[in-house]
This record gives sequence, C-alpha cells and structure tokens, in this order.
Amino acid sequence: MTNKPLGQQISNCSNCGSNVDVKVPDGDNKPRYVCSSCGTVLYENPKLVVGCVTEYEGKILLCKRAIEPRLGYWTVPAGFMELSETLQEAAARETLEEACAKITLGSMLTVVDVVQAGQVHVFFRGTLDNGEYATGDESLDARLYAPDEIPWDEIAFPSGIIALKQFLTQRKTGIEHVHTESATPINH
Ligand SMILES: [Zn+2]
Repeated sequence: MTNKPLGQQISNCSNCGSNVDVKVPDGDNKPRYVCSSCGTVLYENPKLVVGCVTEYEGKILLCKRAIEPRLGYWTVPAGFMELSETLQEAAARETLEEACAKITLGSMLTVVDVVQAGQVHVFFRGTLDNGEYATGDESLDARLYAPDEIPWDEIAFPSGIIALKQFLTQRKTGIEHVHTESATPINH
C-alpha cells in the first residue's frame, strides 16, 4: 500500500475534476495524487510567505492581526506571495495592505524554513517613506514600536520573532547578513 502524499488531501483533479489515485508516478520516488482519468500529477510544493521589518526613526512597524490564524496577535507585515510578482514586490505589497505603509525596501534579512507547515518565510528590511501608516483591512491596529516596547509574548508567529531579533541584533552590530533558521509552527 502506498503512503499518502504529504500536504493537503486532494480528492479531485484540478484539470478535469475526476477522482484521483495515490501512486508513485513513473520516474518519481514519492507518492502523489494522480488523476484516474487524464493522468495529471497533482504536485504540491511549499508556499512562500514574504514580509518586511519596516523601520522609522528607530521604531519598528507591527500590525495586530484581524484574521485567523493568531487573530489579535501582533505581526510583522507578511503574507503569501502571489503569482506574477517578485519577492520584493510581495514584501512591499503586504506592508501596504496590512499597514497602509509605503516603504523603501532594503536587503534580505531572514529565510526561515517552516517545514511542518510546508512554508518558507522570507523577510526583508525596509524603511517607512514618510512616517505615514494606518490600519489595513487585515489588521485591527498598526503601531510603531521602539525596540524595548515590542510585545514579544504577543507576536503571532515564530518566524516574525526570528526576523525582529535578527533585525535588532544586526542593527546593533552594523553587519547585515541573511540569517537562515528552521522554525516550528505554533499550535493555534
Ligand atoms: Zn484529470
């Protein structure tokens, strides 16, 4: 008996709607969902989440989430990358959507593997263009936090904590590099 593929349960082909079988396709070595009618292999791959640690006059922009998961927790603006955009465009778009903030994007800050969730989280550095921001549709609040005011116990996701800590540490040392780490997802 073939093991189930990792990822979400799939019951219908995205190409023709027929039922799918689980099998290891020719030339492959992992079980996949394969359409019983048209033979399409329904590959599932990790998703990219992209965000930006945005700074203004020494403070850092955080948003309070208005949506699940982790509703009511503070987050570094971030979200799923869309088709047709670059990593940088995704980071700027998410910051605009969640905090109504126009930013100048800096260098890459962190790449965090969240293997159990099937995600990779990428964060950039950025600066707020004119100090203006507001609460976006997906947020309950948006605020600039001084480093010693950051509500660490109320940060939504481990990858956000990693990005914030790296940002502050690297700013102190004055040496910028891309930090890589694996995070375990929290249960919510
Ligand atoms: Zn099909």
